[in-house]
Amino acid sequence: MRMHLRNSKCWNIVLLVSVCSSLAAAESAVKPIGRGLYAYISDNDASANSTFLVGDAGILVVDTGLNRTEGSKLLGAIRRVSGLPVNYIVNTHYHPDHQGGNAVVGPSAVVISTDFTRERTLALQKDPGMKAFHFALADLTFQQQVTLHLEPFTVQIYFPGKAHTSGDALVYFPEQRAISMGDLFLNRSSPAMDDGSVESWIHALDHVLELPLDNVVPGHFELATKSELQRFRDYLNDLYQQVRALKKTNKTLEQVRRDIHMEKYSDFRQYAKYDATFADNAAAIYQQLQAH
Ligand SMILES: [Zn+2]
Repeated sequence: MRMHLRNSKCWNIVLLVSVCSSLAAAESAVKPIGRGLYAYISDNDASANSTFLVGDAGILVVDTGLNRTEGSKLLGAIRRVSGLPVNYIVNTHYHPDHQGGNAVVGPSAVVISTDFTRERTLALQKDPGMKAFHFALADLTFQQQVTLHLEPFTVQIYFPGKAHTSGDALVYFPEQRAISMGDLFLNRSSPAMDDGSVESWIHALDHVLELPLDNVVPGHFELATKSELQRFRDYLNDLYQQVRALKKTNKTLEQVRRDIHMEKYSDFRQYAKYDATFADNAAAIYQQLQAH
């Protein structure tokens, strides 16, 4: 049942994605963010952003978009920069909007993810509701971290602790002073929350904020710097502290949903259909605290 719930939630995300795709206005943009490194900001809010690094002999791509269409758009953008083969793909987590383009972007690439992401992708593959997707399972998995040497660069791929899901990966590019955040960071937006941990998510963001960084690639929306990441971290922390305080006074889940004050973040996007509103985030935190 739990598995089924998770999958149907995920499927919900996919359905919403197709609704949102028709609302997409801006054009996908490729921005150079360091030597050999590019951020691909999707024009479809429901399909993830990507990052790609062009080495001497091949390319690494972080996240590949929702499906073949989004993957093709991404590959087209990569090809305008380099004709080298895509040798590696990192999927930050198992949600389809981050890995649905794998087969198009890098049909012979080595796919890298956490052990958890591979397990959850395997479950998606077996779900009849997900038949429309062609997932490429990771070839190489890790639990804590792995360093990729894409000459002349090094790339640090690591599990920062439970956050958006229980097995996200972050991808840090030390030479370029940049990081790909997957859905641990949505720029100016209330995030969807899977079975992760907001408490540990905040710690993970604090750690990222200590790194030397000029560019931060969010899972969705505009390219960012540390200041937008700091604001997102403050949003999560503010909400976490409020929910914890309300819960201590024995407020019910419904009261907590109603009694939080998030006026400071009134410019944040909220998506009710993704369970990604301030109240939904408060409910997720409440349930996580309950489970402790
Ligand atoms: Zn996600």
